[in-house]
Amino acid sequence: MAEKNIFEKIIDRELPADIVFENERILAIQDIAPKAPVHLLIMPKKVIHDIQSISEEDLPLIGECVIVAQKLAEQFNVQGGYRLLTNCGPSAGQSVFHLHFHLLGGRPLGMMG
Ligand code: AMP
Repeated sequence: MAEKNIFEKIIDRELPADIVFENERILAIQDIAPKAPVHLLIMPKKVIHDIQSISEEDLPLIGECVIVAQKLAEQFNVQGGYRLLTNCGPSAGQSVFHLHFHLLGGRPLGMMG
């Protein structure tokens, strides 16, 4: 079996994290190196390496990640403006190869670029 990455270890409680949401399918944590006042990571517990790897059967899970993001945006009071993104592959800046969505907010985020 392949070595677990950081997020798989967090999901399995082998590493600590500041958990802000959890259910049977999804975990959300504070990013350890926040790029904005609010920087959360929302991830399915299922091992999926990146958004390019999802299949049709995963679509409900992805949709649920978005609903969780909406609720967390309200909880962290950034519902009026936030960025929800996922990096796919090293050239896009992905560094942990377990699908996760960044929720960033709490300051003007400017244009992408
Ligand atoms: P990405 O580069 O899109 O794969 O995002 C990975 C994110 O995980 C980065 O923003 C890191 O700061 C964050 N990160 C790495 N290790 C941890 C950790 N142990 N706990 C919380 N966030 C982490």
